[in-house]
Amino acid sequence: MSQPDPSPHAARLIINLDALAANYRKITAIAASADVAAVIKADAYGLGMQPVARRLAQLGCRSFFVAHYSEGVALRAMLPDARIYVLHPLSAGLIPHYLQHHLRPVLNSPQEVDLWKNAGAMRGGAILNIDTGMSRLGISIADLKHLAGGLTQSIEIDYVMSHLACADEPCHPLNQQQLHAFQAVCALLPGTPASLANTAGTLLGPDYHFDLVRPGIGLYGGAPAGVGPSPFQAVVALYARILQLRDVDSSNYVGYGATYRPGGPARIAVAGIGYADGYMRALGNTGFGAIGGQRVPLAGRISMDLCVFDVTGAPCTVGDEIELIGPTLPIEESAVHAGTINYEILTRLGSRFTRHYINGAGAQ
Ligand SMILES: *Cc1c(COP(=O)(O)O)cnc(C)c1O
Repeated sequence: MSQPDPSPHAARLIINLDALAANYRKITAIAASADVAAVIKADAYGLGMQPVARRLAQLGCRSFFVAHYSEGVALRAMLPDARIYVLHPLSAGLIPHYLQHHLRPVLNSPQEVDLWKNAGAMRGGAILNIDTGMSRLGISIADLKHLAGGLTQSIEIDYVMSHLACADEPCHPLNQQQLHAFQAVCALLPGTPASLANTAGTLLGPDYHFDLVRPGIGLYGGAPAGVGPSPFQAVVALYARILQLRDVDSSNYVGYGATYRPGGPARIAVAGIGYADGYMRALGNTGFGAIGGQRVPLAGRISMDLCVFDVTGAPCTVGDEIELIGPTLPIEESAVHAGTINYEILTRLGSRFTRHYINGAGAQ
């Protein structure tokens, strides 16, 4: 349901929670033998943690992953019963906050395991994160072998977990290698539930599902890179307002640095969005908007609050909207033009937009 527009110049971000719900159900069906946790770090990839988490909880999602403990505290305030896992390392100073807000740590080193062991009787379950080939956070397999014996007696382990480095390249040999390494890890902790797959890992097939999958980008409609068009429904659309139209010709330059000069008579539209809104500056002179399904190229560099499109031949008037993400322009296309990935396009979406949540189907 759209709300009144508080700013006539602001770009409009539309977040379709019904599509989010459809994507959650789709992942639930794909990973039918596993539970589905939602990764909602970084403000649910820029879409808004509160409305996203609330809708997912209504669908029966019970486990959530955040990166920072402060994200977990904010989530706890709205979901008293959810399991909230914090991915970033545990430190001694944070333990009282974890206990107070019933946050569950993802333990990334033997030192963190010790901290949690000593945290007292109030501690709940934890996840053991094992590095199986990404060399990012996680306990090494050698360290796990030292720890394994006494572990399950001394702390409650909800899951043993690892993370795939190349799941978005289905044929990459590291996927199989990490799978086998993780199976060996699970054998060291018999009976402990396990979790390996993010969105792309979930799409690699049932061998990768174990007991819990941890999708993020797929919930938000993104295609994991390398698997072609997204198998998920688009959740985000972004529209910028045309603030001014100008008729120019080859004697004019457009924007900072005078990097764009029309080849002949042209019509340009000045739109009210810039890099300070999260519209990536790298798109200057390479990206597109769309008017009525017709692509219109960005003309010149993106400014802080403004950018310019060449709308020659695309009927429009001041006050109309130009699509920047939507049915004509999937996030994946902008990502290619900006030299980045859909994750970065989403997580940069700023706070200056008016946000409109579509939330039908009997949800609040
Ligand atoms: C961010 C993250 C995920 C979610 O990954 P997507 O590719 O967005 O599905 C899963 N697990 C871990 C450990 C993560 O950091």
